[in-house]
Amino acid sequence: MRKKVVLLGATGSIGSSTLRVLRAHTDRLQLIGVAAQSHDRELAAICREFAVPHAVLHSEDAYRRARQGSYFPGTTQLSCGPEALAALATLPEADIVLIAVVGTAGLNPALAAIEAGKDIALANKELLVLGGAHVIAAARRKGVRLLPTDSEHNAIFQCLQGHPRQQLDKLILTASGGQFRDSPAAALAEVSPEMATQHPNWSMGPKITVDSATMANKGLELIEAHWLFDLEPDRLEVVIHPQSVVHSLVQFIDGSILAQLSPPSMTFAIQHCLLYPERAPGVEPTTDFKKPFSLDFRAPDYARYPCLRLAYDALRAGGAAGAIFNAANEVAVERFLAKEIAYLEIPQLIEHCLGSMPNSQQPSLHQLLQTDAETRELAQSLKF
Ligand code: NDP
Ligand code: MG
Repeated sequence: MRKKVVLLGATGSIGSSTLRVLRAHTDRLQLIGVAAQSHDRELAAICREFAVPHAVLHSEDAYRRARQGSYFPGTTQLSCGPEALAALATLPEADIVLIAVVGTAGLNPALAAIEAGKDIALANKELLVLGGAHVIAAARRKGVRLLPTDSEHNAIFQCLQGHPRQQLDKLILTASGGQFRDSPAAALAEVSPEMATQHPNWSMGPKITVDSATMANKGLELIEAHWLFDLEPDRLEVVIHPQSVVHSLVQFIDGSILAQLSPPSMTFAIQHCLLYPERAPGVEPTTDFKKPFSLDFRAPDYARYPCLRLAYDALRAGGAAGAIFNAANEVAVERFLAKEIAYLEIPQLIEHCLGSMPNSQQPSLHQLLQTDAETRELAQSLKF
């Protein structure tokens, strides 16, 4: 029996890596639902290639365009809007839902899929940073698998297999350090959106590429790791590893450290999640030890990466601070890409929001969503 897969965010970077995995494993995996925001023609092409029966476009304009253009195959049922997205995530026949939409738009479909008892492959980290307590609690209550697809968390998940929790000392997340890790500090003031959306190792969507440069991405991943693996900030470390071959490490109480290695491509983690607990040949060559290469590690410099320090602060503060960090960062990146604020103003905007938004301990999901909305409003209004 083939596993039936729903892919939210099919036209993005994770989406296209997922399609490569699906093409290579048509005997094991079947794509039964796809969603995108507004790339209607790209989504139609995916529906044609994989004979996908259900598709959702989040944008009404794109949906109208697609209806008029009638380029979706007649066998695909196309719908639109947030309810349609939740319905797609809960299709009765679906076995696993891969959440690869960007930003907090992934939260509602993720919660809906969990409530419907679906296993989740989670690429989207923002939804855990916003609503981690609620998502994890719901997944436990429903007994669904939450398979981490973000490469660091996937590495940790793989290294933890078969080891009792009391043997665990700490988790060490690797970070490439982004495209400006060796630039002179003075040059950072001149970083443009064009420069910040190019990554030396990974090919990813624009938001996460900027997050990688500022290391806000690693900050989000610290908070993601806190929720996924239930560890306090002092047991979560970050190390810069420019080659992006060691995807993270797990240190045990006796000092032994396990790591997971593979080339910097998301197909490895995606395939691991979709086929879990089985394994099959990968879609591209893995690290070749017959060729010489070296792996470097060094501690991050917080003066260069203030977003990382701010993420630790948010994690230690707890409550709604993760939601504030995430919303402020999302708006800061949007405003930077729109050339409204400078690169070095991204951490300033986040710090201002963390300092001025009221925090609350054990917030309800409703309170978190309200904090998210209010932080966005504040972050939009800040002048520099
Ligand atoms: P992209 O920007 O490349 O793709 C985002 C996808 O989500 C697109 O298919 C987009 O559709 C779709 N989308 C956005 N909003 C909605 C919505 N409201 N409803 C339905 N679909 C929507 O992002 P990435 O693939 O880079 O990242 C996706 C997530 O995975 C992020 O949370 C990121 O942090 C995480 N991640 C990404 C990694 C990577 O290597 N790229 C690595 C690890 C994690 P459209 O094309 O129409 O806009
Ligand atoms: Mg990652």
